Parts: sequence; structure tokens; C-alpha cells
Amino acid sequence: MAAPVKLLMLENFIDGKFLPCNSYIDSYDPSTGEVYCKVPNSGKEEIEAAVQAASRAFPGWSSRAPEERAQVLRRLADSLEQSLEELAQAESKDQGKTLTMARTVDIPRAVQNFRFFASSVLHHTTECTQMDQLGCLHYTVRTPVGIAGLISPWNLPLYLLTWKIAPAIAAGNTVIAKPSELTSVTAWMLCKLLDKAGVPPGVINIVFGTGPRAGEALVSHPEVPLISFTGSQPTAERITQLSAPHCKKLSLELGGKNPAIIFEDANLEECIPTTVRSSFANQGEICLCTSRIFVQKSIYSEFLKRFVEATRKWKVGVPSDPSACMGALISKAHLEKVRSYIKRAHAEGARILCGEGVDKLTLPPRNQEGYFMPPTVITDIKDESCCMKEEIFGPVTCVVSFENEEEVIRRANSVKYGLAATVWSRDVGRVHRVAKKLQSGLVWTNCWLIRELNLPFGGMKSSGIGREGAKDSHDFFTEIKTITVKH
Ligand code: NAD
Repeated sequence: MAAPVKLLMLENFIDGKFLPCNSYIDSYDPSTGEVYCKVPNSGKEEIEAAVQAASRAFPGWSSRAPEERAQVLRRLADSLEQSLEELAQAESKDQGKTLTMARTVDIPRAVQNFRFFASSVLHHTTECTQMDQLGCLHYTVRTPVGIAGLISPWNLPLYLLTWKIAPAIAAGNTVIAKPSELTSVTAWMLCKLLDKAGVPPGVINIVFGTGPRAGEALVSHPEVPLISFTGSQPTAERITQLSAPHCKKLSLELGGKNPAIIFEDANLEECIPTTVRSSFANQGEICLCTSRIFVQKSIYSEFLKRFVEATRKWKVGVPSDPSACMGALISKAHLEKVRSYIKRAHAEGARILCGEGVDKLTLPPRNQEGYFMPPTVITDIKDESCCMKEEIFGPVTCVVSFENEEEVIRRANSVKYGLAATVWSRDVGRVHRVAKKLQSGLVWTNCWLIRELNLPFGGMKSSGIGREGAKDSHDFFTEIKTITVKH
């Protein structure tokens, strides 16, 4: 008889201590479909304990000088960097993404998040004005808000969680973070590094569990005045309802239905590989991924042929395979959902040029039950189709043609989302014109995913409320006050 598999047991981290929970949720390895980890199924009780701890820690942490807090953030960045390989292995196993992606993107960015906010928090200034006729001087001060509730999704687990924790604690808040129940492991590993980095007990509390139990207990708690949420639009709606009676400060980073607009003068040598990457990186599970590709009619056939050829080379493999470009999707339910969109497109008369239902995957026997699917390209699809309107959040992209600039801007803007767009053209005037008219919080022209952390990140319309970045995150995680002095 085979020896029973030893499961990884996570614990909550509250007031500087690891604490067991009364019940646990199964967590799956997406590449095999097997349960390998147990995540605390926390609720009101655990959130209450975390609120008490965060509240006790607040006076001491918020009264430290920014430089002192920055030092702690820098030490945390160093500790994370020293554990980079271990964290990358864990992130890849927990999420299904390739080890290469975790090693080169997720964990380095988590390190950078702490270093970046350790530096940027030292450079903020506030305003001052004078009213000489009345002998008055007015100035503003910023103070930390209090206990920050941070809720993050499963696609870039440690990357997005630290993008919230770092600015929140740099500004002097204490935090209660709730990572996605589907990907909790690297957040738990982060807790092991806090003490050595000098993070006092209660400054960072991590409570694991589902949205409806742990998440809602956090959002509804009257002593948590601020919620920073990254996730889906329906969850944001629920969070907004729960926060409304308390008038909480809310930052909502939500989904997208991101267009790529490719004009006939685009440099296809660069555009095609970048658009394959922007469609399928991290299994298409990045809020910024392209899912509607508009190509000018004169180059449509050539683009489509070359794009499908390049997509077929985007290798799906087990996450540890260094030649794999894409690993497994997050869960069985998500895989089914993504597949259902392709079936609906097919039923509506669209053509599936490559991927699901067309190309077969070859996977090792151990991974046959994993949540893999090939990158899929759909064409001959109407703008009204659900695949062109709704966020699929998987390796699926639609390619359609357009005639002129005015038309493509209207069509690109015709969805409820407004997160990111890409524009490909060598005409500088056109690039500026189109970028300005797109209803999108971010526009990349002739590139994708080049991030400047100083500048605002976030979406318009149903893609969210608020922005994150050096100044924007600081503004969000602090309260501003105007003081008038008559002299
Ligand atoms: P989700 O909304 O299902 O869950 C996100 C988080 O919210 C999880 O931690 C979950 O447990 C929690 N949650 C769920 N229900 C809750 C509730 N009722 N109250 C409080 N918390 C609750 O989203 P997901 O499926 O984990 O992530 C995918 C979504 O995230 C996609 O829509 C994607 O576009 C979006 N996303 C946006 C950005 C961005 O920066 N704009 C980045 C990454 C992902």
C-alpha cells in the first residue's frame, strides 16, 4: 500500500504568531488535479483576533519615522530575495504557472514592491498656501488611515499581495491581508520572514479563507476603515455593498476585456510575438492580457496566418518544464468555464483556428488530470458575442478586422471594461490620437506590460475605482487633513 501523502498545512498569522484553525479547505495542485495543501477556513473569529492585534500594533508602527519603516521594508525585500527559488517553486506548484514565470516575474516583482515603496515613501511632500491679507498659512498633512483590509486574487499571488502590503505599511498602517483561498502558500511563507526582517507583531496579519467567510468578515468589520481589493467585478459589487454602511475607503482593481489595435503600418516582426505573449502569458490569467485583437483589413489575412503559426509554437507544458511558455489553469471549475466560452463561440458560428478542440496536448501520465488547455484563437466572431464582451481570463483571444481609425476606437470602447489597451502603428500622430480616445486606464503603444511603478495603475468603467502607484497608493493609504494657522 502506498504511504499516505503528507499534506502541507497552512496556519493563520496573527499578532506575530502562527495559529491553527478549526476547519480547513482543500487546495489543489493545478498541474495534477491532486489535493496537496490545506488552507485555514477562517471566519469572523479569526478576523476579530487579527483586528485586535492590528489595532494594538497601530500606535507604535504609525508613529515611527518613515525612514525606520523603510528600513524594515528593505530588510523584508532582502529576505524575500534570498528565498527567491523556494518561493518561485511554491508559487508555480500552487498556481499552475510556469516555474520560469514565477522565477522571473512573480517573485522578483514581490521583492521590488517592498524596495520600491521603501524608497518612494521617503519622497512625498504636502501642500502649503498663504493668505497674506488675513495673515493665514494653510498646509496639509497626511496620516495613516488605520487598519487596512487587503484582498487579493489567485493569478499573481505574492506579486499582487505585496503590491498592497508594501505601500500600506510604508505609510504607517497595520494590515490584515486575505489572499485567495486557491493560492495561499507564498503568503504563508512570507509570514515566516517577518520577524527576522523586524516587522513588529500585529503590523502584518494574514488570515486565510474564502471570500464569503473570511473576506466578508474583513470587509464588514467596523474597525477596518479601508479596503484595497483586486479581483473580479461581481465580488467588487458585493464589497461595495458591505462597505457602504461604514463609508469605507475603497480601491477596486478589477477585470478587463483588453483590445489590441493593429494598424496596417505596424511592425509585425515585433507586434506578432508581443501579441501572442499579451494574449497567453500566465495562461491568459493576467488582468492586462489581450483578448480582442482588431487588425486593419489590408493586413488581416497575413496577420492571422502569422499569428496562428506563432500561437502554435506557444508551448503548453508541465510548470517545471523550462521550455514551456504556459502551464495549467488555476482550477477545474475555471478550466470548464474557459472551455464553455469556446463552445459558445463555436455554436454562434465563429471559427476556432487553433487550440481547444483543434490541437491535442501531449502531457506526462501524471499530469493527465491537470487543468491544461492549448492557447486558442477565435475568428469570424461578432462584436456582440460573449467572447468579445465578457472577461474569460484564460488563454483565449479573438481576432477581427477593421477598416478605419474612427471605427476601431468605437468598437474597442464598446465593452463595459476599461483596463488596458495596446496600439500598434509607426505613425506617431495616430498613436497619440488613438491612445487619448481609448477608454482605458493604461495604453501601451508598440509594446506590452512595460510597467513604471511611479505612475498610476488602474482601470476605468467596470475595471475599477482608484489607482495604484507611488503617489496614488500613498494617497489611498493615508488621510489628508488641511490645517490653517493664523499668525
Ligand atoms: P475573485 O473576485 O473571485 O476573488 C478575489 C479575492 O476576493 C479572493 O481573495 C476571494 O477570496 C475574495 N472574495 C471573493 N468573494 C468575496 C466576498 N464576497 N467578500 C470579500 N472577498 C471576497 O477574483 P479571482 O477569480 O480571484 O481573480 C480574477 C479576477 O481578478 C479577474 O477578474 C481579474 O481580471 C482580476 N484581476 C484584476 C487585476 C487588476 O489589477 N486590475 C489584477 C489581477 C486580477
